[in-house]
Amino acid sequence: MSKERGTKQLEMRFEGDNPLANCLREGKFVVLLEVNSPPGDQPFDSAVAMASNMAKRIAKVPEITGMAVTDRLGGEGDHDPVETGARLAAASGKMPLLYVSGKGSDETRVRDLLARAASSGIRTVVAVTGDRSDRHDAPANAKRVPPYPAGYLDSVDILRFGRKSGQNVLLGAGVNPFKYSPSDQYLQFYKMVRKLQSGADFLVTHAGWDMRKLQELQWYLQMRDIGHPVLARLRLLMLDDIQALQDEVYPGVPVAKGFAALLQRESNINATQSLAAQLHRLELQIAGCRLLGYSGVQIAGIRDVQTLDMVLAKVSEALAATRTYADWVKAWNEFHNAIPFDPVRDAYYVFSRLLQPEPQMYDPATAKLTDRSLPGTTKGDRFRARLLPMLLSERMPEWVVSATRRVACCGWQKPLSLLKYCYHLCPLACPKNLVYGACGGAQPDGTCEFGHAPCFFHRVIALAAQRHELDRLEEGVPHD
Ligand code: SF4
Repeated sequence: MSKERGTKQLEMRFEGDNPLANCLREGKFVVLLEVNSPPGDQPFDSAVAMASNMAKRIAKVPEITGMAVTDRLGGEGDHDPVETGARLAAASGKMPLLYVSGKGSDETRVRDLLARAASSGIRTVVAVTGDRSDRHDAPANAKRVPPYPAGYLDSVDILRFGRKSGQNVLLGAGVNPFKYSPSDQYLQFYKMVRKLQSGADFLVTHAGWDMRKLQELQWYLQMRDIGHPVLARLRLLMLDDIQALQDEVYPGVPVAKGFAALLQRESNINATQSLAAQLHRLELQIAGCRLLGYSGVQIAGIRDVQTLDMVLAKVSEALAATRTYADWVKAWNEFHNAIPFDPVRDAYYVFSRLLQPEPQMYDPATAKLTDRSLPGTTKGDRFRARLLPMLLSERMPEWVVSATRRVACCGWQKPLSLLKYCYHLCPLACPKNLVYGACGGAQPDGTCEFGHAPCFFHRVIALAAQRHELDRLEEGVPHD
């Protein structure tokens, strides 16, 4: 594999004409601005006005490829993302990237969004499972979270529907590289590969500030010889964001104590100084992502045109920067006084020697894998994983199958064939009832996003490791 960005051939099955795809193919560093579909409790025109102003502002800014429009990030009552995307496309003259969230979604909604997006000329979609719905009740101290009636559609299913839709759509998928135990990190990597095998053309990371983790993802992809383009999602922090981060409001966005203290110190001076520090950090991150091998960045957190102008200036600076990788590492560390960004003790990184002055790209001669095994499985899970495929097989009498479904699978209503993806452990132990792999929302210590227990998929990966079948966790899911 080539070690120089620009000489590497990116893998993309997508062959149509699409501005984002064209940039990715040509190796032009992509910069997207992320806005949320506005909250539905305000009239659409006024709710979308600020985003429209931002869209008008970027119309003649060639460095900005377009806007990314989230779906249901605020909640299920948010305005329609297609309507938002179409409005921003009209204002900017640039095709937006549209998120499609599985939160409270089903196949009908996804198909409807994809069809309407296509007829509005929007042909880039990122599939995400979505974070916890604020409508999903979970009693405090419950050992098992009751299912959410509206459900969560796994991003893998959204990708399958996207591929099947017949629309010529460039499909993206999310990956969270900011995980700090072997189980959590490999669950993300395996599911990332499953998403690519299930139809994703490119990846977008979760937002975070730990640049070692962003380099780790690139090295992992390079080690596996996976050449799909990856965009890094970056977040500009305003004063209230800093408080929200410290209150752990954002699931799947871990913040180390040292970094939280630094943000606090920056924000204690005054709002102007705090914003200046965040803008400088953003500029360093953009430049760093480019040097690390990312195909572009998606910048979230901008709320007004004045801040947008400052961000645009930083984007220009970052793109014009001629620092070497070693100089960038030095600048990043100096700006942060070399504070650690890992939010837990004994944090796991797949490789040693990350974020050193060299090597820049994965080098098998020097990039040693960190020696840390996955936790073991339990006798009960091993027994169940052997027994249930027999009890639920087509050879069994119907009454055995339905009794097993009722007793051992808590009345699992979806096809029994899906249970093979989680070794026949009961997916109702996951509050989102996922089977294809973990969502990105687990807390830094591996506790589920809902806070009631360790992430269900720790048990799945433990079984896969014990059977020497980890590759099964990244198999694609057929489109039919
Ligand atoms: S169990 Fe894991 S995959 Fe399921 S909601 Fe919790 S963190 Fe996400």
